[in-house]
Amino acid sequence: MKCNLDKNKSWQHALTNAITEPSELIKLLELDEALIPKAHLAAITFPLKVPRGFVARMKKGDVNDPLLQQVLPLAAELETHAGYETDPLREKQFNPIPGLLHKYPSRVLLTPIGACGINCRYCFRRHFAYEDNNPGSAGWEKAIDYIAKDPAISEVILSGGDPLVANDSTLASLTQKLIHIPHIKRLRIHTRMLIVLPERITEELITAITHPTIKTILVTHCNHPQEINSEVVLAAQKLKKAGVILLNQTVLLKGINDHVDILAALSEALFSADILPYYLHILDKVQGAAHFDLALQTARTLHQGLIERLSGYLVPKLVCEQPGAPAKVSMTGLEFCTE
Ligand SMILES: *Cc1c(COP(=O)(O)O)cnc(C)c1O
Ligand code: SF4
Repeated sequence: MKCNLDKNKSWQHALTNAITEPSELIKLLELDEALIPKAHLAAITFPLKVPRGFVARMKKGDVNDPLLQQVLPLAAELETHAGYETDPLREKQFNPIPGLLHKYPSRVLLTPIGACGINCRYCFRRHFAYEDNNPGSAGWEKAIDYIAKDPAISEVILSGGDPLVANDSTLASLTQKLIHIPHIKRLRIHTRMLIVLPERITEELITAITHPTIKTILVTHCNHPQEINSEVVLAAQKLKKAGVILLNQTVLLKGINDHVDILAALSEALFSADILPYYLHILDKVQGAAHFDLALQTARTLHQGLIERLSGYLVPKLVCEQPGAPAKVSMTGLEFCTE
């Protein structure tokens, strides 16, 4: 029992102990302190947040480190660009009750918690009013009722925020409710915690999110092979052993992973960790992230490069999200996506 408490304490402690002060991050990584004022300014709209274990995977003295680039607030975020919005996916219209998004008929997305383990600068939810969109424990009854009444729904997706920031008992009670709905076959969890805070993957968590009558799928979010260290591999193995299916999604990001060698190495590293590449996302056009965006043709060329280099199952699907589309839109075929 003591052992369990200690383990829980360790991930929760790592989470609360994350770096949130731009000056601390910049000094720790021995970067130019002239970056500090602008970083402070950019962090007002969307705060800095990065676990220390993730920072340890960054290279000191390198402002272009691909992991650092994902979390360091920059002056470029303060620029406004035409065509970049604050709610690019227009999610509000698919939000029938707080904490539930129902965009595609066979699956619903629940957002049990607003916070994440890390704040990614390119996040499309960087302007999302998380606080206003959490059902709270009483509100869960409504979400569960909604799901129970619609037999077309076969899968419940926990997203966020990051659902694994929620504690084990919240997740366990949600799983318990879902397994009693006969048409729910799958529980899917979209999380970046396996990557950024692998100590979150405890036996208690695995017990909370698995059950013999339901399939559990965990979709990680990893953008660069340097994010995968031995702790991540071990955490993935624990999940795999418990029968959890592991998939990954990546966001294409200028200056971070916009090279076929990096994307190919990422697929290889993921597969070595028993994680299958699932989606390669075109960046959502969110205000403050324009400097990460790539031309559509560049994205297609990169993807074609992967197809020519890798085994078919190592190639993620290149997709973008379009408000109103019946599914994520494939960008490999002839379908059209507005740039
Ligand atoms: C992406 C997404 C899903 C899941 O789509 P898949 O193609 O099944 O991965 C479900 N609901 C919403 C609102 C989404 O944005
Ligand atoms: S973990 Fe996901 S939801 Fe959270 S900030 Fe990063 S991209 Fe956004």
